[in-house]
Amino acid sequence: MGVDNVRNSLLNRRLYHWYETEHRILPWRETEDGYRIWLSEVILQQTRVQQGMDYYLRFVARWPRVEDLAAAAEDEVLREWQGLGYYSRARNLHKAAQMVVERGWTPFPTRFEDIRALPGVGDYTAGAIASFAYNQPFPAMDGNVYRVVARLLDIDEAFDTSAGKKLFHQKIEELLDRENPRLFNSAIMEFGALWCTPVLGDNCRNCPLQELCLGFAHGTAELLPVRKPRPKVRDRWFTYHIYLSHQPSDVSSQPLDVYTLIRRREEKDIWYHLYEFPCEETSHQPADVSNHLSFTHVLSHQKLHARFVVHRVSELPVVPGTITIRWEDLNDYALSRLTLRALDTLQHKA
Ligand code: SF4
Repeated sequence: MGVDNVRNSLLNRRLYHWYETEHRILPWRETEDGYRIWLSEVILQQTRVQQGMDYYLRFVARWPRVEDLAAAAEDEVLREWQGLGYYSRARNLHKAAQMVVERGWTPFPTRFEDIRALPGVGDYTAGAIASFAYNQPFPAMDGNVYRVVARLLDIDEAFDTSAGKKLFHQKIEELLDRENPRLFNSAIMEFGALWCTPVLGDNCRNCPLQELCLGFAHGTAELLPVRKPRPKVRDRWFTYHIYLSHQPSDVSSQPLDVYTLIRRREEKDIWYHLYEFPCEETSHQPADVSNHLSFTHVLSHQKLHARFVVHRVSELPVVPGTITIRWEDLNDYALSRLTLRALDTLQHKA
């Protein structure tokens, strides 16, 4: 037996001992039913365990088998999902149940490739189902596991880059207990969730894995895992001009119609090919932001500050790149979310 194997088996013995005494009783860890484990994994993505538990119990009671879920109407599934957010997950859940039935994979697929082929199932979920339900030797790397592995092995490579993912995957494959993948995955995930937590406090001092932990030995544990640097948030300022007139500059008009100008965004930028009111952009805050409709709109790497200025004019001005439309036809155009927000507020004010 090599040094690494001796170290790994000692690590597993200690981890399992900790798990046996400390783990939470969770209904989806007490079953080997692939369908139920899959349900719990999908429900628990981006959801706290306590909240997820209620939904899991309701889903299982209402649709005890995958065939029941497949036969439900999508609307019923969405209603049962209400409150969890990310509705695409519920739609995928329903589609996946139908796929299982159509392909004759009931009560639930057992091959990793088949599980991985279901809509909404990635490497983590497929590994979790294959190991928890069927004790197959696949790792299940969730955020907790990345953290524990980074600390135990003192890995300072960012885990959310493709090179980092590859490295962590290779490391977890080396650590994985092929005789007991179900126990190994359950234990390391629970250890990350309850003990080797993002903020460590006193946990390292009393940790059962302390002697084997390189992050502890090198004093780096609290700094791990490393993420790739997030791009800086860029501020942008937009001034939109909403021109309103009974008199368009070109077409013959009905006297009661109101006309406005809009443009399609052609720049390779946010809202590509969506429509908006003519606007000016500046890289600093323009003077005089008062008395206008102002919004802040946050995107992943940009913070947009927008103000909308309404101009009631006798005749629409000529603004290059814009088109003239009837105000009531605005909804026929694909508008950016920011523009929709402004319209909504304007309508409430009107
Ligand atoms: S010693 Fe600290 S960092 Fe290392 S496994 Fe234990 S709790 Fe995590």
